[in-house]
Amino acid sequence: MPSEFSIIKTFFADKSQQKHASTKLGIGDDGAIVTIPDNQEMVIVVDTLVEGVHFPQQTSARDIAYKALAVNLSDLAAMGAEPSTFTLALTLPQSLTGEGEKNSRARSLKKPLKKSQQNANWLKDFSEGLFELAAQANIELIGGDTTQGPLTVTIQAHGLVPKNKALLRSGAHAGDLIFVSGTLGDAAVGLQCAQHRLGREEKKLSSALSIEEKQYCLNRLNRPQPRLKAGFLLRGIATSCIDISDGLLADLGHICAASRCRATINAQNIPLSPVYKKHYAHYAKGESVLGVNSMSALAATAGDDYELCFTVSPEAVPKLLALDLGCPISQIGEVCALEEAGSSADQAGAPRPMVVLLDKTGNIIPVAKSGYSHF
Ligand code: ADP
Ligand code: MG
Repeated sequence: MPSEFSIIKTFFADKSQQKHASTKLGIGDDGAIVTIPDNQEMVIVVDTLVEGVHFPQQTSARDIAYKALAVNLSDLAAMGAEPSTFTLALTLPQSLTGEGEKNSRARSLKKPLKKSQQNANWLKDFSEGLFELAAQANIELIGGDTTQGPLTVTIQAHGLVPKNKALLRSGAHAGDLIFVSGTLGDAAVGLQCAQHRLGREEKKLSSALSIEEKQYCLNRLNRPQPRLKAGFLLRGIATSCIDISDGLLADLGHICAASRCRATINAQNIPLSPVYKKHYAHYAKGESVLGVNSMSALAATAGDDYELCFTVSPEAVPKLLALDLGCPISQIGEVCALEEAGSSADQAGAPRPMVVLLDKTGNIIPVAKSGYSHF
């Protein structure tokens, strides 16, 4: 079994990474040292992925690594920061460090590999997935920790932003327009595809989507594209910004809470991919209660999108539309004052949610759960 030190050396320390200008000392000592350039500030984010909780058990090592870094980069994007350095805390089960066979996922492979090979292959794939995205995003691995236990990946990422220019959740004002990048709901379909791969309802799903369409959704789930370029171009333009990890309604709710405002979303403006619509049409067949509104409501409450949701004052919209953000954006709604948007309670006296979804005629679409819920 390779030692912790040879794992670090082989898979993480000896990689020919692009060095970041802010790194003074990388992997190898008790700590890393980074310098913060004059007139810049450092944004620090951290996210943990736990097997079976944040990704299905069958997810490939390459995708696990990619996603672990991508979700952190998405947080940096939402802050308007440019990625600089990151650390990796990796907890590996015995089955992946070559010790002990009980409950080893590798045992279920048809042709079992030697323990040392399983270990090396998994770590090699993991390291490749990690450095593939790190190179794209120009972020350097400068340290970490390697331990044994249930498969868990924690990445802490650092980014730089000009002083006082970071995008916050707290700057939205009544009258601002609300935008979202990309399309919503694809990752939720991807999760369904991943679960169906495990055998459940295989027929129903396979008749709806082609292999390419399923792969598109699985990629949206496992390899989210952090909207980094959009994030830093929105500095000075967006009044607030958040990345959507738990669902549009839930995450926009965080902007509303931080900015002390409410928001209305027009369901028909929520951007949906053709694949999402196709899947939904098939899935909802025969269930007459599910119309276009519910299709949008589902996309607005689905998790794992990693798109940006941001607000812009009407005066700044021409500037926004002149930018090449590297991804499509859609205007989906409007910010209103806390006391606006009707009363703070509906007719039945129930407290009105901070974020409401409206249908074409301006009626509120009731949504049971604003956060993560797949079909
Ligand atoms: P210590 O015992 O002093 O915490 P370690 O032996 O854990 O140090 O780590 C040695 C060096 O390797 C440190 O610079 C640490 O940051 C780095 N390191 C450990 N694990 C990883 C990892 N998974 N990825 C990147 N660097 C790592
Ligand atoms: Mg030490």
